[in-house]
Amino acid sequence: MPELDFIIEAQLALVGADLQELSDPMLGVKDGRIVLIGPRDGQEPKAGVKVFRFPGCTVMPGLWNLHVHIQRRHLARSEGTTFRGGAAEVENQPPALKAIYAAVNAKAELNSGVTTIRDCSSGDHISMHLRRAVEAGMLSGPRVISCGMGIASTGGHETHMYKGAVEADGPDEVAKAVRNEIKLGADFIKLMASGGLGGFPDRESPRRVEMTDVELAAAISQAHARDRSVTAHAMGEASIRACINAGIDGIEHGVELTSELAAMMKQRNVYFVPTASGVSAVVERMRSAGKTQASEYLHEHVVQAQRRSIRTAMDSGVLIGAGTDTLGDIVREVVTFGELGMDRRDALKTATSNAALICRRGDRTGQLSPGFDADILVTGNSPLEDLNHLRRVAAVFIGGHIVVGDSAWKSERE
Ligand SMILES: [Zn+2]
Ligand SMILES: [Zn+2]
Repeated sequence: MPELDFIIEAQLALVGADLQELSDPMLGVKDGRIVLIGPRDGQEPKAGVKVFRFPGCTVMPGLWNLHVHIQRRHLARSEGTTFRGGAAEVENQPPALKAIYAAVNAKAELNSGVTTIRDCSSGDHISMHLRRAVEAGMLSGPRVISCGMGIASTGGHETHMYKGAVEADGPDEVAKAVRNEIKLGADFIKLMASGGLGGFPDRESPRRVEMTDVELAAAISQAHARDRSVTAHAMGEASIRACINAGIDGIEHGVELTSELAAMMKQRNVYFVPTASGVSAVVERMRSAGKTQASEYLHEHVVQAQRRSIRTAMDSGVLIGAGTDTLGDIVREVVTFGELGMDRRDALKTATSNAALICRRGDRTGQLSPGFDADILVTGNSPLEDLNHLRRVAAVFIGGHIVVGDSAWKSERE
């Protein structure tokens, strides 16, 4: 047995990219990485090696939330409190306060089993600063992958009520905006290719195309030249088509995904992050705020249409990832995929190994395999039996450190 920092024992492990079930597993961690995983076979660990025992529990890779705006995430969690407000209310706060929101929300993500977040536009570049703080070990939070600020046309999505994206017009300005986000430290580039829901119907519409073909092409060529992938908020059919034709790497929301477009995505390796739980929560919130007409329209043309799109993408074999957007919920997202007919194992992959592939980190993280990051979720029961078991978080490890789980904390200290 190799030198180990600690061992995890449980009833079941979901191993490798395909989450194969392994009973009575033993998982060894050294220097933040998984170094062994296999059946325990009655072996006793070397004297002095710390052991975390989770009887009856399932060990699996930590979850990925591929679409957040981290300073706003608390909106879903604080109903009835003074924190409750729209995106504009949060984004128009001073950066110092938004940074505190981001730190609190990062901890909340961790508590729900999320070990990596991908922030898809963050006013004042808060998520980049959060990334620094987490990497420096200043605060407990998931790993952060950040696009910095998204790029939109003047008055486009995320710009009309607050500065949630950078405004740029014409290929030269868009190219410069891409270069600037990369200069500031963007891990990937996010474009606002269509209108959205936040300002519907007065200021924006999900079917409206908000970036031109030449702007999309300029952004993508500059990002690719700097080894950054590009994803786009694209809801309506025309914007999805324009993005795919321009060479985009990913589509966020993809409300009107036809089978023709899905086939193009499959052929060109374009991934899909629908954020179904976030989209339906926005419409539900409009309904409870008394905006009956708008919410009914969006329920039919966005929520229901998007469910069809997800089925179409599944049928075409498009790589699908789990993300919540502002108001969604990561378990709800994975459960929704299951409800739409996705195999439970495949649904779990949208938030683990396939999510890591989408972030181009699939060769070193996102699965329980030797050599991979020890980013680990321990659940009370197997989510392969019922995806809702993802809510029974018993412990979370990141990079070989236990970050959630009281009893586990105790055994580490012992
Ligand atoms: Zn969006
Ligand atoms: Zn978003």
